[in-house]
Amino acid sequence: MIDICVNLQNSQFSQDRAAVLERATQAGITGILACSTDLDMSLDNQVLCDEARSESGWPKLATTAGVHPHDARKWQEADSERLRALSSNPCVAAIGECGLDFNRNFSEPSTQRRAFQAQIEVACETHKPLLVHDRDSNGEVLHWLTKPNRQPSAVIHCFTGNAAELDSYLDAGCYIGITGWLCDQTRGQELRRLVRLIPDDRLMIETDAPFLRPQNAPSNEGLFTGSLSAQKKYRRRNEPALLTFVLARLAELRQQNPEHLAQKCATNAGRFFNFDATA
Ligand SMILES: [Zn+2]
Repeated sequence: MIDICVNLQNSQFSQDRAAVLERATQAGITGILACSTDLDMSLDNQVLCDEARSESGWPKLATTAGVHPHDARKWQEADSERLRALSSNPCVAAIGECGLDFNRNFSEPSTQRRAFQAQIEVACETHKPLLVHDRDSNGEVLHWLTKPNRQPSAVIHCFTGNAAELDSYLDAGCYIGITGWLCDQTRGQELRRLVRLIPDDRLMIETDAPFLRPQNAPSNEGLFTGSLSAQKKYRRRNEPALLTFVLARLAELRQQNPEHLAQKCATNAGRFFNFDATA
């Protein structure tokens, strides 16, 4: 299995990142795309990718280079050049995660648009795929992804849209990333209906850890030692080993064999990101 979006630089992993990666391997995760939300983080992830090469108990790692819509206010003119340079490192498998998030608007919409368009440009120039974040953009992400002569390969990570949005993304040739949102009793209802409509050859799976812990996973109780407050903090943490719970729910909803589905998603991700994560 390949987990196409893990926030390995998140502070929730700073105490035990190696153990998290070992558990991922034990759970059958052979590859992880460590996503970056700003350009400095991409450098940190490149260091981690190098480290992974000598760690036999870890999954293979690749990373992204880009600026998340929440961080779009950091984007400067000169960053296109810096992004081009970063993406020339062979461990950078995609540009991103980038896109638009009008749900929280941590950066001004106009700033988000500017950063997103610049990153699409770089993706097209460097022939790298895009890891895309779309939250409540109301079709605008798709609009920017389908400009004439500016159409990078894209995966819509953590898809949470409606049926019409799914249709348009599939029509535009995009891949769809499914997270533990699927397992959420209340928020996942529409997604559970829609995942049946995604063709086998457009599907990828991801945890988006430490966020979006699948509700069907057993509790973390006992996994962490230390103070009560630390244990409380980690109780809801997600990690790549829990990708199996996203896969199980997805296979059940699509009435497919989980192993077959895992294989299919890994093949799609491997080809899309040019990421050889075979064990
Ligand atoms: Zn995202």
